[in-house]
Amino acid sequence: MNYHVLTLFPEMVENGLNTSIIGRAMEKGLLSLNTVNIRDYAGNKHGKVDDYPYGGGAGMVMQAEPVYQAYLAVRQKISSTPRVVYLTPQGSVFTQEKAKELAKEEDLVFLCGHYEGVDERVLEEIVTDYLSVGDYVLTGGELPAMVIIDAVSRMVPGVLSNESSASEESFSGNLLEYPQYSRPEVWRDKAVPSVLLSGHHGNVEKWRREQSVMRTAKWRPDLLEKAELTEQERKMIQEI
Ligand code: SAM
Repeated sequence: MNYHVLTLFPEMVENGLNTSIIGRAMEKGLLSLNTVNIRDYAGNKHGKVDDYPYGGGAGMVMQAEPVYQAYLAVRQKISSTPRVVYLTPQGSVFTQEKAKELAKEEDLVFLCGHYEGVDERVLEEIVTDYLSVGDYVLTGGELPAMVIIDAVSRMVPGVLSNESSASEESFSGNLLEYPQYSRPEVWRDKAVPSVLLSGHHGNVEKWRREQSVMRTAKWRPDLLEKAELTEQERKMIQEI
């Protein structure tokens, strides 16, 4: 997977992604990161890439041409037309499903806005996907791009050491994951649930599934609409 990030702050994106699991996957060559500084395409000696909004109003708008030139610089490196994601609070909210879908691409381009956003005309010209990371407004698209890159990268084969860890966790099957415990067996008078020490695989699975369903019902009942539940599990939810 090759990521190309069009941004005014390339060092922010590079520093944010070059550590831990994602950093190691880059070292292994499973992922690559190409940041493009939009300011390099300003076309003026001051590196100015923003201007006042037509019609008035607060703030500045990122101009179309520098963004377009930065995009063309990326296009030269890619043979097929890539998906271009514009990070915006106006987009559809990013989900685990979307992460799986995007992980199938070979190249992904991310456009990070700043100030009041980006001139609409260049968005119409290059963007294929409008994605938000939630219903709140951030100062720029860099953090959302990093969030999405992190989530997508976990779906790229080989990035996680244990393939099953991505398929069994929260949001798979529209359920949250069961609670996890590690050593010691007793911590500050709190013991690990005995079923997890029993060595009985079937009972452990049953307990985890129940916990998963109950936790989802309590914290994210909205997810349950799409979850596949047994009749017994539906009854259990109604009882709690
Ligand atoms: N004026 C814009 C509006 O009301 O829709 C908000 C602009 S915001 C201050 C600046 C940039 O941050 C946006 O262009 C976008 O790239 C990014 N951004 C802010 N919040 C975001 C969110 N929730 N999800 C994705 N990107 C976001």
